[in-house]
Amino acid sequence: DLLVVGSANADLVVGVERRPGAGETVLGGDLAVHPGGKGANQAVAAARLGARTALLARVGDDGHGKLLRDSLRSAGVDTAAVLTGGAPTGVALITVDPSGDNSIVVSPGANARLTEGDVRAEVLGAARVVSAQLEIPPATVAAVVRALPEGTRFVLNPSPPRPLPAEVLAACDPLVVNEHEARVLLGDGETGGTGDDPAGWARRLLALGPRSVVVTLGAKGALVCDASGVRAVPSVAVDAVDTTGAGDAFTAALAWRLGAGEELSVAAAYAARVGAAAVTRRGAQESYPTAAEVAALDA
Ligand code: ADP
Repeated sequence: DLLVVGSANADLVVGVERRPGAGETVLGGDLAVHPGGKGANQAVAAARLGARTALLARVGDDGHGKLLRDSLRSAGVDTAAVLTGGAPTGVALITVDPSGDNSIVVSPGANARLTEGDVRAEVLGAARVVSAQLEIPPATVAAVVRALPEGTRFVLNPSPPRPLPAEVLAACDPLVVNEHEARVLLGDGETGGTGDDPAGWARRLLALGPRSVVVTLGAKGALVCDASGVRAVPSVAVDAVDTTGAGDAFTAALAWRLGAGEELSVAAAYAARVGAAAVTRRGAQESYPTAAEVAALDA
């Protein structure tokens, strides 16, 4: 079974002709409300594939919290560990201009109130794999690592990226990063920067302490890296419509297949097919494929 620990947000999206400057008001189109947040996205992606999936998260006692619970339940996610209260449900306030550029304000709300005390042994106990991201407090992620039962695998997508303590890095198997996250974790901006060498990033990330690393490269597929070296994961050619949430679908699929006992590069190849299927449709959770849709991809 897969346990996802992470955020649940309502994404509030309004199209605008142009984004407002300071002190300015602009009129936009009709509001669209989508269930989101990396934790909820991963849980929905895994459940849609057929994984037995639970989510440990916190939402507010409000309509957005209900929206999230409903979308999780209808995808088949176990919501017994979706906690309520402490603050309003997290929201992302998103304006989109005609060129498709976004401006986003995130209010973490209840996500910031998912605490170490919420990480209970009985919730972690049933999981073969625990998958986390960084839209919840760092201390909560560290508490998850400390509470991992013997033999439970830990997968981390460090998004949004920030420096990780050694104990968290050491637990990651794998650490899953996209190009941006790789550059931030490797300290891009230092003299010389991190260059444009994904295999080099993978090796340098592995040297930070995780047991394995996966670098996702969008349409170019992914790399996996562990003590045996770096291997390329083939990309899948699709007509990309919207890449929102592709990384969440990839990581969820990877965590599920690892829990089923697949070897890292085999699990990553499946995850790449799931990521590719997800970019062929609009939205995040709405775009996630079933296992049958993944199987049909290049048939
Ligand atoms: P993120 O969404 O975190 O930026 P990526 O863009 O690297 O992550 O996408 C995650 C994975 O989804 C990629 O490794 C790849 O397997 C798949 N994917 C993403 N974009 C495409 C695309 N345009 N064509 C095919 N596969 C894609």
